[in-house]
Amino acid sequence: MTGDGTRVVRAGLPEPAAYEPALPGPVFAAHFHLPGDAEGPYSYGRVSNPTWTRLEAAIGELESPDEPAHTVAFASGMAAITAVLFSQLRAGDVAVLPNDGYQLLPAVRTRLESYGIEVRTAPTAHDAQLGVLDGARLLWLETPSNPGLDVCDIRRLAAAAHDRGALVAVDNTLATPLGQRPLDLGADFSVASGTKALTGHGDVLLGYVCTRDAALADSVQLWRKTVGAIPGPMESWLAHRSLATLALRVRQQAAGALALAEALRERDDVTGLRHPGLPSDPSHPRAVAQMRPGRFGCVVSFTLPDKAHAERFLAALTLVDDATSFGGVRSTAERRARWGGDAVPEGFIRFSVGVEDPDDLVADVRQALDAARRGA
Ligand SMILES: *Cc1c(COP(=O)(O)O)cnc(C)c1O
Repeated sequence: MTGDGTRVVRAGLPEPAAYEPALPGPVFAAHFHLPGDAEGPYSYGRVSNPTWTRLEAAIGELESPDEPAHTVAFASGMAAITAVLFSQLRAGDVAVLPNDGYQLLPAVRTRLESYGIEVRTAPTAHDAQLGVLDGARLLWLETPSNPGLDVCDIRRLAAAAHDRGALVAVDNTLATPLGQRPLDLGADFSVASGTKALTGHGDVLLGYVCTRDAALADSVQLWRKTVGAIPGPMESWLAHRSLATLALRVRQQAAGALALAEALRERDDVTGLRHPGLPSDPSHPRAVAQMRPGRFGCVVSFTLPDKAHAERFLAALTLVDDATSFGGVRSTAERRARWGGDAVPEGFIRFSVGVEDPDDLVADVRQALDAARRGA
């Protein structure tokens, strides 16, 4: 049994070959020469590509180290999410979604409803989706939720959904496969945006769907082939290269996020502080029960008194960029209400902790909070 740090540096790599690089370069071909055999592994570039195959094998090893799993890579997290929903749901089906998940889920809901699918929603906290599960065909979970950082009990919800004949998908973007393994917890699909912490450098858009069920994997793959939401070979190669440092990044970012959350607890200008790794957080007991020890993600959220106060804070930070997204090696923070999509207060900050030294980051946040309080 190898550890994650050992696994990530070799995941998906071919056997070493003399005078070849450890990770072969991206393959850009659209069509492949066929040796008179239409059943071979590679024929046309929208269907399969050797660079994807290696990345998909690597992600499958991380999401499901103990049992074989099938992974299908996509051009973005949204391409992966919609691939599961639209490949599995038919008119007349019922889908249950979180109402505090990724900000595009309401747009997805509208689209599903236009196809005759009934959509019910409930919050992530307290496993509230249990209450609307009867008759459902598919249950969608996002835990920890983004940006509210609530956690639901995947095992409990998956068991309840399976009792009712429903499939279960978990958006694993925030935790990454090194922080949480939804398939081990009973989910049928683990789905994620690779744009965030998985690749971590803010230079790639990517998504994936992982499942142990070959028939489900086939239907997701057929969806990708049909809509053509394929990842670029260069993006796939960059993503694979980034996986080697995933264990280091996940550990450092989680430690930094906890240090930041602990420092913010001391402040009387901060309210609504949330981080699943904080022992006092309402999500903590459930996070401990299903996430990997000490790997509760890189996101800390909190609220400053008002919009102007939050803007002064962001402007006073010197080590942290005012930028959206999360999971990158450089810390970022943003006033989430500027997008208008999430139900958050005007002073709500979503803070993504990078790999900087935690002491430097905490010192910078403290001076920026002091400056914002002085009105500077
Ligand atoms: C960013 C994000 C997505 C969408 O991913 P893209 O790669 O931007 O399409 C989905 N779910 C969560 C939780 C995210 O943070």
